[in-house]
Amino acid sequence: MDTSVYQARIDNVQREMGKRGVDLLVVGPSSDLRYLIGYDAHLSERLNLLIVPGKGKPALVVPVLEAPLARSAEALVDIHEWQETESPSQLAGNLIRALNPGSIAVSDQLWSGFLLKLQGELPDASWVSALEIIKPLRVTKDDAEIDLLAEVSRLTDEAWEEFIEGGPLSGLTETQAMERLAGLMQKRGLGASFGICASGPNSASPHHHTGNRVIQVGDSVIFDWGSTLEGYHSDVTRTVCIGEPTDEFRKVYDIVRRANQAALDAVKPGAACESIDKAARDLITAEGYGEYFIHRVGHGLGMDVHEEPYLVGGNTTPLEIGMVFSDEPGIYIEGSFGVRIEDSVVVTPDGGRRLNEATRDLTVMD
Ligand code: ZN
Ligand code: ZN
Ligand code: ZN
Repeated sequence: MDTSVYQARIDNVQREMGKRGVDLLVVGPSSDLRYLIGYDAHLSERLNLLIVPGKGKPALVVPVLEAPLARSAEALVDIHEWQETESPSQLAGNLIRALNPGSIAVSDQLWSGFLLKLQGELPDASWVSALEIIKPLRVTKDDAEIDLLAEVSRLTDEAWEEFIEGGPLSGLTETQAMERLAGLMQKRGLGASFGICASGPNSASPHHHTGNRVIQVGDSVIFDWGSTLEGYHSDVTRTVCIGEPTDEFRKVYDIVRRANQAALDAVKPGAACESIDKAARDLITAEGYGEYFIHRVGHGLGMDVHEEPYLVGGNTTPLEIGMVFSDEPGIYIEGSFGVRIEDSVVVTPDGGRRLNEATRDLTVMD
């Protein structure tokens, strides 16, 4: 993205601040910081802080040793370096005090340790969450962002198609199987993000920690993984069966696959987030597996793997064109097995468009 993209984002965030009567915004190392100025700051005990006033050029507080990294944002912000022997919260406090803000919005991902020190510096300010200011900007993606999400998803699918042709999984540990898949992602130049391989009874645990269990014939194996391309994430899940599937596995797989399709079919601009969850859940419930679908059907996807909007019961937010989220129903039978199928979906004027097309057919591997 070039400077003009970030400048427009800063202008937009300042406009949102104005609408909500917020005088100043502070942002720590996070996707919000990357979104606003393209600076991928280290998240550590050394304070990096973006200070956005209601009008005019923002300030960026950076540790002197990380200042070379921040230079890329020089056109957008005034950079204030702090030396190892200085107090960065005092420096930030002085910069903020000079602007005399009444109300300060704080990005969700600023560490509480930093926030508490800033509050100590500015005891008279009122502090609010920046979520409602930043969310309207980040929740819908522009064409350039959708192109990146589509491309990282396409390459992730391609890695999967190569993976399932790449020889037997039985005899490998979950870790070894995941390494093989991760290697195919790296080969395509994608950045590391996360990977879950859950085999046999572990596949009934949706966020299983990949471990040393050896994959065996008869296992259901769930792979839930992703990568990044220029900071934008893919997030895909496929479930394979090792050896001939049982009737129960076939049945559950078919239900999950139809639930994934039902959720996609429910996507259209204006539909409530919760209605997408309901479409998948109603189908699974009607098949008698409702109690085994133990998580929401999806989450927004972009610079974070989990972000707004959340497709969950109770969220009546209407879908908008350009929103991108996961469609990931699952059925988990504790002690036995689980199945999940996950694609990323973008909202278009005509409904949902999948960004993932890796096969959803029941895949049997050795
Ligand atoms: Zn998850
Ligand atoms: Zn996932
Ligand atoms: Zn997901």
